[in-house]
Amino acid sequence: FCPTQPGRNHTAVISSSSSPAVKFIRSRVERMSESWIWAGRGMKPNRNKTVSPQMKVLLHLGALAGDVGQRFEAMVDRGGPLGELVQWADLSACLTILGHNLTFSTSKRQLHRSHSRPLTFDLIYTDYHGLAHLRRAMGLAFQHYQCRFRILDSFGTEPAFNLASYAHLHGYKTLWGSWGLQPLQYMTMFPHTPDNSFLGFVGEDAVKTSDEFKPEIYKKDNIAVVYGKQEYMWQGKSDYLEVISQELEIHGTVYQPSGRASSLPGFVKNHGLLSQENFLQLLRRAKVFVGLGFPYEGPAPVEAVALGCMFLQPRFDPPHSSHNDVFYKGKPTTRQITSQHPYSERFVGKPFVWTVDMNNRTDIREAVESILKTKVKPFTPPEFTCLGMLERMRRYVTHQNFCGNSTAVWEPEPVLRVLLGPLGQSCVDVCQRSALTCDPALFHRFNTPDTMVQEVNHLFPSYSPWGRLCGLQQEPLLFSCAGSDSSHRRLCPCRSHRE
Ligand code: UDP
Repeated sequence: FCPTQPGRNHTAVISSSSSPAVKFIRSRVERMSESWIWAGRGMKPNRNKTVSPQMKVLLHLGALAGDVGQRFEAMVDRGGPLGELVQWADLSACLTILGHNLTFSTSKRQLHRSHSRPLTFDLIYTDYHGLAHLRRAMGLAFQHYQCRFRILDSFGTEPAFNLASYAHLHGYKTLWGSWGLQPLQYMTMFPHTPDNSFLGFVGEDAVKTSDEFKPEIYKKDNIAVVYGKQEYMWQGKSDYLEVISQELEIHGTVYQPSGRASSLPGFVKNHGLLSQENFLQLLRRAKVFVGLGFPYEGPAPVEAVALGCMFLQPRFDPPHSSHNDVFYKGKPTTRQITSQHPYSERFVGKPFVWTVDMNNRTDIREAVESILKTKVKPFTPPEFTCLGMLERMRRYVTHQNFCGNSTAVWEPEPVLRVLLGPLGQSCVDVCQRSALTCDPALFHRFNTPDTMVQEVNHLFPSYSPWGRLCGLQQEPLLFSCAGSDSSHRRLCPCRSHRE
């Protein structure tokens, strides 16, 4: 099963296999195993041709443990969130192919059991819930070994929220942040800010094991599939859907409790919640995947585009954020969400992704008409393929070491371009406008005390035109690509990157 290091890896699953969540993970890994093996064989050897050491890895899925876990499990077959399970499935497949030795835990009891030897794991992947379990299970060792943790954190944790003392003093204290880890230890579902590590998942079509395109598999019917597994997501969206229904047959995959009448519009053909395999089959037949505005930032739009569907979604103006939206409230990010799926809007775009004003019938109609005139092939951004994820994870496992003093700088050493941004812009944006990427590991190269005022402030280093002051960062944990503020011009460490 492991093409890179045959015969070395094994996976211990210490969890209840009857749990719906574990079943979902298992069936996804099995369905995609051929693609993973194929991609593993296609990987280029490491630059220096050495085999990276086999790591002993614990995957502790905190969200499936205890009371929180019971609630989560109860929703798996009723339209609850599945995005995290997609990531856990792909992470475990990816680490297996890379030849590591995995132990998989989904309860606090199992954690305690595996933690009778807690310090024997080289790496521990968990989530925010799991961090709390680990602190209880590990006692004093927690502090010492936290450099081995990697946190699956879909929406990301910006540096200003991560350092408890700073967050408390400056209004960034939230339910989730304040663990004081290295910001790169948080692993996100989409590339939100380079302050965190982008973990991702695999969106590519599992049956496609070569680059060959077989049009007969993607024969499209005149149908649109709506993105929304629960009825409440459809509320107030009838007018929008009605405009689309004038051109396309509307299909849904909404969980329908038995004995309750459906509140979906009459023109919707609802299949009920489908297994992931059947859901993907339906997308394969559809021309359009229609976003309703919620859920935010899930895997499904990437899958849809990978199956040759175009994604139609609402724009948010003003953007949604932790200040004006209950879902983002308390999340440790200042991100401004400009549409249901900002990654697709920004990095994929037309002709695959169409972002419209949901309340403007003309805008919707014109987009649907253009979509019907457009032909697209299945498209998967390289970072969402098995190969992309394998290469990324191999680099993380080999190069990210938070236990020593070293900060991870990619090899070869990148060329730094220091850019001074305009007021109010984050370094993520400043670098991106110059087709570069912000790299928080490079801040230290110019954050030197020659002429600057020193302070603990997540906006530093920066220049403030009012006080004519240059500010230097004193706290390395607060180096932030994401930070922005209307009175500071950020000084940004930008470098080139592979698209
Ligand atoms: N999905 C599924 N059955 C369905 C609809 C969706 O298995 O009827 C899967 C889909 O393939 C995707 C996962 O659910 O990988 C998560 O989807 P979504 O983007 O809705 O994210 P979530 O909000 O669930 O985290």
